Amino acid sequence: MNIEKFRIKEGSKLNLKKHDPDLTANYTDKKEAVADLKDNIDKLAELQDMLYAQDVYSLLIVFQAMDAAGKDGAIKHVMSGVNPQGVSVASFKAPSAEELDHDFLWRHQKALPERGKIGIFNRSHYEEVLVVRVHPDILQAQQLPPEVKNDPKIWKKRFDHIRDWEQHLFENGIHILKFFLNVSKKEQKERFLARIDEPEKNWKFSASDVKERGHWDDYMKAYEDAISATSTENAPWYVIPADKKWFTRLAVSEIIVKKLESMDLHYPKVPDETLARLEDARRLLESE
Ligand code: ATP
Ligand code: MG
Repeated sequence: MNIEKFRIKEGSKLNLKKHDPDLTANYTDKKEAVADLKDNIDKLAELQDMLYAQDVYSLLIVFQAMDAAGKDGAIKHVMSGVNPQGVSVASFKAPSAEELDHDFLWRHQKALPERGKIGIFNRSHYEEVLVVRVHPDILQAQQLPPEVKNDPKIWKKRFDHIRDWEQHLFENGIHILKFFLNVSKKEQKERFLARIDEPEKNWKFSASDVKERGHWDDYMKAYEDAISATSTENAPWYVIPADKKWFTRLAVSEIIVKKLESMDLHYPKVPDETLARLEDARRLLESE
């Protein structure tokens, strides 16, 4: 799969209308994609083992999307083969009073993966330039100085803060991938209806999601702006077609595997001294 066509190049202006949510690249059926996903899950498990043993780099994976785009399912499937000790998932909802008493990156900084681990952000610091931008009352309710809240350049400044922070992380060994799962408004409606129709999906339904859908165009504009401003060489955004869940999962797994393969991962080399001690230990065990 040519993953490059999903990457937003640094400095380019994203137009979501030009990204087909229903694209399935050269895959025509689900079976083939599921088989390739399985291969990627196996590769991911091996790569993650090396990442952990080497204990130098970590990988932060950001998921952003409209409701019902399939973030949870993508995380569940793509990570299904990975040692649970090597992954952490942080889900970000509306901030708590304690979180609002800090700068907006504080809670995200605290949730970063340690070296050797893969960290997943299910929603992220980007909500601060998405939901907060679409709903100006949320910004007004934040505990910020008035000159900050009312600064007409606030979004541009937040983009800069985010870019700088992500570059800082990269230069400390934390590599970053960012996924926008691009579901169409039509498919979102189908998925909401399924949540109403099918009893085992009822728990997922939230009336507020339907209300949020009313702001669709504002969200698309906010996503276009945020992604255009923050897709960088070291922290790239990928816009992933999300109308077919099986394709979303495959594309995401492919990008993560290629990223880890590019990271010069290897098992730590054991010094000669330690090797000699292994031999001593072998002799001891064998003489029991
Ligand atoms: P799902 O609906 O599949 O369970 P979700 O990620 O939509 O997953 P919810 O609990 O439904 O989880 O929604 C979390 C809500 O929190 C979203 O509407 C999101 O926009 C909101 N949120 C996240 N970060 C912030 C923030 N910084 N400020 C205000 N709202 C936020
Ligand atoms: Mg939700």
